[in-house]
Amino acid sequence: MANGKRPAAKRAPARRLPPARIGVIGGSGLYEVPGARTLAEVTPKTPWGKPSDAIALVEIGGEVVAFLPRHGRGHRLLPSEVNGRANFAALKSLGVEQVVAFSAVGSLAEEQRPLDFAVPAQLIDRTRHRPDTYFGDGVVGHVAFADPFCPRLAPLLRRELARAGLPGVEREPTLLCMEGPLFSTRAESHSYRAMGAHLINMSALPEAKLAREAELCYALVCMVTDYDCWREGESDVDIQMVIRNLLANAERARSLLPELLPKVASSARNCSCPDACRFAVITDPKLQPRATRARLAAVLPRYFAPNSKRR
Ligand SMILES: [Zn+2]
Repeated sequence: MANGKRPAAKRAPARRLPPARIGVIGGSGLYEVPGARTLAEVTPKTPWGKPSDAIALVEIGGEVVAFLPRHGRGHRLLPSEVNGRANFAALKSLGVEQVVAFSAVGSLAEEQRPLDFAVPAQLIDRTRHRPDTYFGDGVVGHVAFADPFCPRLAPLLRRELARAGLPGVEREPTLLCMEGPLFSTRAESHSYRAMGAHLINMSALPEAKLAREAELCYALVCMVTDYDCWREGESDVDIQMVIRNLLANAERARSLLPELLPKVASSARNCSCPDACRFAVITDPKLQPRATRARLAAVLPRYFAPNSKRR
């Protein structure tokens, strides 16, 4: 734009569009999906504020998909600054049921090589500064998180990415999420390896936790950029090399979406995610503050909306 301002988000009301049942969260290097037809851009307001950026409703492979760049277009948000609660509440408000997220990661294991893709099976949380639950303020909920990624969606992604010929993707690695924004020290990198982590990033959490609490299916496609700093003979994390690999990976990820997303859409949600909070809330309903219930209704309407039967 000549005046340097971004174009205003189109005011196409979401209710006049088919609901976007799939959400895609783009990570570093994946800020938009060129070639996909944009139906509208929306910025839903949520009780936790606004999402990272306008959410584009785009048509990919015949599916309406809600695309959200995690760090904002132009990469403006630190991992610690991403408003995860608003992001998932906004996606849920658009009708999203399943989220495929993308993230650039470092490798902590010899076999996970730069430019590999991976869909992790487990998580270790080393974040410190991020709100990571919708509960609190008078409503206590505890949700099962032993398997942090959707047990149906993660294997589906592994299968489909392997079919597309991506190397290394059949493994089920453990991902460690650190706070950042600085990369690890060498001592930390070695200690994470000793903990059993194979990959490291700064964005898987609190996303996986919030998706589970919002009863969304969530899985993460990791794109390996480098060997972190543990590896003998490897130059330490070289930002230019990381960015080069990151852009190459993002390009491959984009090209996969038109085939991948219809497979996700047609997979029946017979996993446990849609019922994740069914028995989670412990607080006596009579004592739950009205304002907290109203907030929770934005992500869990079946339990907290005023006309909900499951009080
Ligand atoms: Zn699921």
